[in-house]
Amino acid sequence: LVIPDFRSFCSHLDQIFEECTDITSGNVASYIPELSKVSPNFWGMSVCTVDGQRYSKGDSTEPFTLQSCSKPLTYGLALQQLGSEKVHQFVGQEPSGEVFNALILDKHDMPHNPMINPGAIIMCGLLKSLNLAANEYVGFSNEVYESEKATGFRNCAIAYLMMEKKCFPPSITVDDVLTLYYKSCSILGNCETLSVIAATLANGGVCPLTNKMVLRQDVVQNMLSLMQSCGMYDYSGHFAFQIGLPAKSGVSGGMMLVVPSVMGIGLWSPPLDRLGNSCRCLYFCERLLDFYCMHPYARL
Ligand code: GLN
Repeated sequence: LVIPDFRSFCSHLDQIFEECTDITSGNVASYIPELSKVSPNFWGMSVCTVDGQRYSKGDSTEPFTLQSCSKPLTYGLALQQLGSEKVHQFVGQEPSGEVFNALILDKHDMPHNPMINPGAIIMCGLLKSLNLAANEYVGFSNEVYESEKATGFRNCAIAYLMMEKKCFPPSITVDDVLTLYYKSCSILGNCETLSVIAATLANGGVCPLTNKMVLRQDVVQNMLSLMQSCGMYDYSGHFAFQIGLPAKSGVSGGMMLVVPSVMGIGLWSPPLDRLGNSCRCLYFCERLLDFYCMHPYARL
């Protein structure tokens, strides 16, 4: 087993989970009206190892919308269907250094990377459907979808800017592409769902619960590389420096963390810091790394 003494690992997780409840800073995202209705007190955690050992705490089965946590998945599906070369004719691999919904493109007039809104909107232009989390809970929030659609002026501006710059494949309309984008943001999952998705990535694309190859290995390599450099908005550089592991956060306060070849972790706590990452989820990662030397360059 990849974590031989799973019991003592879980007792450390318990301890970290409890410590995190002291973190009460941050604010629940309010720019999407429906998201502001979510209680700031939810706090959940789930772990799934690459050999299928699982452990959950707190509100781990409470559903929330995946928001930006869906971005690596949209990217992965585009890669899976079209290959890396084709996909990267439409999107770059550089961190933008800007907020996730900034109205900017790179020097080639392409979105910087697929982990922020412009890039994810382009991926939706390359794609049709989503399915990846074994038999874990996956749902859809029509309320959040409608709420985003009604108030997503910034995303409209981003899509029109990219139309002007001819970023999309031919015959894509702004309306179609944003519909798919909002749908991907409004997918419901819970910590357990995110842990299984993250574990599938940790396991090179083979879901540890079903043993099915869901994504090709080269696709997972690309996904994890960009999650590591661009997955935490304009905190990505800091996170890569301090934690060194691929991760992705969303404005609903969800986050997935991948420990390659070991496990996936799904976390959820709605209050966000100024850059849009969940305060408690970040603290959890820091504490986890205090306990376990998981930074890839920590023990060379
Ligand atoms: N639906 C959100 C938006 O487009 C997703 C952003 C996020 O999770 N950071 O603004």
